Amino acid sequence: MSTEVKDSEARAKAAQHLEAERPSLEFGGAWDYAPAPEARDHVRLEKAYRLFIDGRFVAAKSRRTFPTINPATEEILARVDEAGAADVDAAVRAAEEAGRKRWSRLAPAERGKYIYRIARLLQEKSREFAVLETLNGGKPIKESRDVDVPLAVAHFFYHAGWADKLAYAFPRHRVAPVGVCGQIIPWNFPLLMAAWKIAPALACGNTVVLKPAETTPLTALHLARVVQEADLPPGVVNIVTGAGETGAHLVNHPRVRKIAFTGSTEVGKIIQRALAGTDKRLTLELGGKAANIIFEDAPLDQAVEGIVNGIYFNQGHVCCAGSRLLVQESVAEAVLAKLANRVATLRLGDPLDKNTDVGAINSKMQLTKIRELVAAGIDEGAQIHQSSCAIPEKGFWFPPTFFTGVAQSHRIAREEIFGPVLAVMTFRTPEEAVEKANNIPYGLSAGVWTDKGSKIFKITAKMRAGVVWANTFNKFDPASPFGGYKESGFGREGGVHGLRGYVELE
Ligand code: NDP
Repeated sequence: MSTEVKDSEARAKAAQHLEAERPSLEFGGAWDYAPAPEARDHVRLEKAYRLFIDGRFVAAKSRRTFPTINPATEEILARVDEAGAADVDAAVRAAEEAGRKRWSRLAPAERGKYIYRIARLLQEKSREFAVLETLNGGKPIKESRDVDVPLAVAHFFYHAGWADKLAYAFPRHRVAPVGVCGQIIPWNFPLLMAAWKIAPALACGNTVVLKPAETTPLTALHLARVVQEADLPPGVVNIVTGAGETGAHLVNHPRVRKIAFTGSTEVGKIIQRALAGTDKRLTLELGGKAANIIFEDAPLDQAVEGIVNGIYFNQGHVCCAGSRLLVQESVAEAVLAKLANRVATLRLGDPLDKNTDVGAINSKMQLTKIRELVAAGIDEGAQIHQSSCAIPEKGFWFPPTFFTGVAQSHRIAREEIFGPVLAVMTFRTPEEAVEKANNIPYGLSAGVWTDKGSKIFKITAKMRAGVVWANTFNKFDPASPFGGYKESGFGREGGVHGLRGYVELE
């Protein structure tokens, strides 16, 4: 039986349920807003994009290209070159030569100046990058404008500052670069992930070959233009576009000294196996299934905003999304009523509209995965609650959804859905909350909501998660290390900890 049929039945049921559950407040639905689309005429899209190797845009030797689309409309935005083994080899060799002859020989303060220049140029072009990110990825413009681009800029500024201070970061050591870094990133925060990878690598004197995700190559390629404009020595930053095969060429290239990977746990394991027995360094930022814990003494309205931000931000395509809600039994009814009401107000639609809360799902493949897991949730007996918002006819969409009656063993409670779908469970005591929060193979992030400072310290200390937020969620800062425990990977990005993966210490 097709998932689509189940999906529409489930949606109809969920809409009824949501209607029935909705508390009789003064307003119980989305307000009408006039359309407020962000202009896109200032973004110069090429028809075809080449690879960025040795400071120039060059045609792929593979002679293969692939289309990149707008997931909200399915419009083809451009064709992009696909790097084969020979192209990856050319990029790695250019990076090696640039490292040996130019970048590692520059005074650290001079390297810092180049990185500052990238930061400033990116800041100047922030509107162009925000629109491009939204066009290619489907995320709401208010997120790319207020989160992705400013944070990417902040990462370059922050790491520019470290370039000539590495001796302070690692006192009593002689600090040397690692060499050529192969960097592979996913599609959920394309520009931000590129910044997380490139900025610390350059600050530490390394050169890079970056592979963006197949579905979202455009902001990385426009970042290549910024790199050109900033006049970086050719070969310091190289960008090779393509699918998983291109990433595998990079991983297996013998002259790459370090692989920095952000993506799924499944591909992370493949990469780890490929590097076993080599002397290449590896950091892995993988998937997550974070617990967001609401205690009965929490400010509930704020907590509900935190739940919404935790799971519906970027359509739930967030590795650290608060996708498992653990709510104390005594307040569960109140929290769920408020959540149902809030979900009904979320506006889904044109990602370029400044009032849109929930944009498009990044790809058809991801939509299929979300539908499959939602169908599994219904089959396993959980109750679905779903926004009855209108779904555009073209593009890939999934309405904000939450499940109640979820058991810890359900697939929706254990597997990363990477979509706007929340699994709600309850607990009675703090010990039970901690036990349930940690009962998962992942350990990337978690959230705790309570009025009591002492409880925050007591609970967060027991969480096996790389980042734990208290009375907030999804807050990022370049000075704050980010990374996982268990199957969420190893190594940290951001802060002094993030520099460690890009230096050799003597
Ligand atoms: P994937 O692991 O499928 O892809 C990540 C990147 O790896 C892409 O560039 C991909 O190329 C490439 N790739 C795929 N196969 C291989 C291979 N065999 N060898 C080398 N590279 C390969 O993840 P998604 O792009 O689908 O992203 C979603 C996942 O990423 C989620 O599980 C999410 O949790 C995780 N993630 C983790 C983050 C973290 O910081 N911990 C942050 C963001 C996402 P292609 O695009 O062609 O598939």
